[in-house]
Amino acid sequence: MVIGASTRVVGIIGWPVKHSLSPAMHNAAFAAMELDWTYVPLPVRPGDLPRAVKGLLALGLAGANVTIPHKEEALRLMDDVAPGAGLIGAVNTIARANGRLVGHNTDGIGFLRSLEGKWSPRGETVVILGAGGAARAIAIQLALAGVGKIHLINRTLPRACRLADEIQERIEVWARGYDWTARGLDQIIGSSSLLVNATAFGMGDEEETLFPCQWLDAKTVVCDIVYTPRLTGLLKGAAGRGCATVDGLGMLLHQGAAALEIWTRRPAPLPVMARALEDALQGS
Ligand code: NAP
Repeated sequence: MVIGASTRVVGIIGWPVKHSLSPAMHNAAFAAMELDWTYVPLPVRPGDLPRAVKGLLALGLAGANVTIPHKEEALRLMDDVAPGAGLIGAVNTIARANGRLVGHNTDGIGFLRSLEGKWSPRGETVVILGAGGAARAIAIQLALAGVGKIHLINRTLPRACRLADEIQERIEVWARGYDWTARGLDQIIGSSSLLVNATAFGMGDEEETLFPCQWLDAKTVVCDIVYTPRLTGLLKGAAGRGCATVDGLGMLLHQGAAALEIWTRRPAPLPVMARALEDALQGS
């Protein structure tokens, strides 16, 4: 596709964004859909987001993704916010509607879709490691999807407790926060139906894990949203215990597919996008 005056532009706002796999995934999708669209990295320094967001409308962009460190601030800059993004407190997808900017969050739904066919949430007990932006999106989506209990284990205890309290108050799902000094974590982890690593721990480090993998029961589905490396120490340890495992590329794929469907109102070509992500990951 030749880029010209009629090409519709979307992109990813973040700092840094040069290692993002999203341009490869979305541009492959646009080509497969025969759409005259392009997706570009939009590096925006901390502090510059308000000016960048104003510029989106003026420049006529069709939409954008938002990533670290801008997701929370982006929420405050939208004209309208979709309910899910409001609950999560962060925006990862911006769409235009009648000259207004609408903030969405597709991280939680992307996570849930990456588990389809492998695990279902209703009434289940889950353990989430972490209480940052990704953990928050996942915990809130799981609560909305009807899980029974959420245990949040985080290095910084008050952050986990705040998120647990908010889930209990706003969604009325049982939730509790812990740090790694809490007693009985072996039992809590061993009796969960889903365990998710939503911390940054494991990035680039292939063997280390936050807890001994002997605590895992073979019935637990284990997911690591870290995807560099794709096979983290946690996923290796979990597979060694006989657990079903899910890597982080699925969440990346499905959050991107959900964003693309918001912008284009057409079904996303998932196999094409998955292949583009895998190729981009191998080449990075
Ligand atoms: P964030 O808001 O900065 O939160 C980071 C979380 O990781 C916090 O809970 C933090 O604990 C914890 N943490 C960081 N370093 C740690 C360490 N050495 N030991 C234990 N805990 C540690 O970041 P985020 O946006 O939630 O992202 C978290 C991870 O998820 C990143 O690796 C990111 O690449 C990945 N991610 C993947 C996808 C996907 O599509 N697959 C989507 C979003 C994010 P404290 O609260 O104690 O600081």
